[in-house]
Amino acid sequence: MESTPFFVAGRRTHGTDELTVHHPYDGRPVGRTTLATADQIETAVAAAAEVAATAAALPAYARAAALDHVSRRLAERAEEIATLITAENGKPVKWARAEVGRAVSTFRWGAEEARRFSGELQRLDTDPAATGRIALVRRVPKGPVLGITPFNFPLNLVAHKVAPALAVGAPIIVKPAPATPLTALLLGEILAETELPEGMFSVLPLPNERAAELVTDPRLPVVSFTGSGPVGAAIRRAAPEKHVTLELGGNAAVLICEDWSDHEDLTHAAQRIATFSNYQAGQSCIAVQRVYVHEWLYDGFLPRLVAAVRELRTGDPTDPLTDVGPLVSTDAARRIEAWVDEAVAAGATIETGGERDGATYPPTILSGVSKDAKVCAEEVFGPVLVVDRVENDTAGFAAINDSAYGLQAGVFTHRLDVAFAAARTLEVGGVIVGDVPSYRADQMPYGGVKGSGVGREGLRSAMDDYTTPRVTVLTGI
Ligand code: NAD
Repeated sequence: MESTPFFVAGRRTHGTDELTVHHPYDGRPVGRTTLATADQIETAVAAAAEVAATAAALPAYARAAALDHVSRRLAERAEEIATLITAENGKPVKWARAEVGRAVSTFRWGAEEARRFSGELQRLDTDPAATGRIALVRRVPKGPVLGITPFNFPLNLVAHKVAPALAVGAPIIVKPAPATPLTALLLGEILAETELPEGMFSVLPLPNERAAELVTDPRLPVVSFTGSGPVGAAIRRAAPEKHVTLELGGNAAVLICEDWSDHEDLTHAAQRIATFSNYQAGQSCIAVQRVYVHEWLYDGFLPRLVAAVRELRTGDPTDPLTDVGPLVSTDAARRIEAWVDEAVAAGATIETGGERDGATYPPTILSGVSKDAKVCAEEVFGPVLVVDRVENDTAGFAAINDSAYGLQAGVFTHRLDVAFAAARTLEVGGVIVGDVPSYRADQMPYGGVKGSGVGREGLRSAMDDYTTPRVTVLTGI
């Protein structure tokens, strides 16, 4: 098996220490690469710092052309990339295909935003002393971006770092997750086909200690991190003077409101929740984890939810009909097993699921769970749902808010007043009305409050994050 090269300042190269990537489903090796050495890391950072001024001055057409190229090439190589994502991440190939499709759009949006990104003209003559003055507010890149990404979306979450950086003209260094570096390296291969100046991008597989050193490197003023809470918190502590964006975890909740009583509505909600608590084996920061149901609907809803979950096909992720594949590792599946066991020991009931098989944990529903149990209070990041009844919609909102996290929430209601009450009351980055919380359009502002993070992604939001306003005041016009 040939070693996949990584990219230092846009050039493909190899390091010395080997990193083998395994298929989560059966453990077989699916590829290998090497880790960047200290010298290679230094070359990447120095090149990013050196090219920053040139990058900031790149015309919009050049930035957009590079982004369009990446979008087009991802589309052309979609099936190959989806197969690679499934091989290193274990997600069912139908979800891997969906991820590639999203990344195609993320880069296309990046190209469109690159063409639009202009700043604003502000009139200053609202004050008599400023008569005849006007301000030109441009946004200029803060400098090179360090993008650190998790394993669960090995392409599209890298795209969410790279596309906005290129769109504003900021160099970027990507540090992919150790379990899933190969997809990011394939993206590097496509980036290397563009006309971007040397030093504009690097993709560096690194041990975490080396990544932690990069976090404090003053030549990388922006750190954009997606991953777990503890690592995010450590990054923030380590680099208080930097612009740090943290896209962290969650224990996303959904509420079936009092008015969602029609039989077809309940069946639809059950199917959506079953699918989106288990897609990617629950390894999504907005996978449904907690379900609150108005008490008069609970007894009719639970059997529908159990039936919908039992419909899901668990197994080999390369099979296009598979809905639920393995966790990223057997250790991850063992942790989930331990959390479920703990909840059951404390009195919870398993409505369905609950038997681990290697790295695969079956879709599982728990009822009667204490709100302090890990499966409810912490991020499960696995195919486990906790279902509970609430006495009214207001109590449902309170239950959703009773969490250390606040990424997104879903509210099944037909009532506009309930939708607005949810939007007013819920302490989250986004409320999805009429559907599960597991919805992200790649151009919309996306991110959390409380333990779910700081800052927003989504092309335009990240572009704002990666830049700073620079004002030119014109006098006498
Ligand atoms: P993780 O925190 O273990 O790792 C994320 C990345 O950080 C990896 O590349 C890892 O190698 C790197 N890293 C680890 N220690 C580091 C250190 N000390 N310094 C610098 N980098 C370090 O997360 P994971 O297990 O890969 O991903 C799962 C987590 O990501 C979940 O908590 C999930 O909710 C979260 N996530 C959040 C979003 C979002 O947009 N909010 C999206 C996807 C995943």
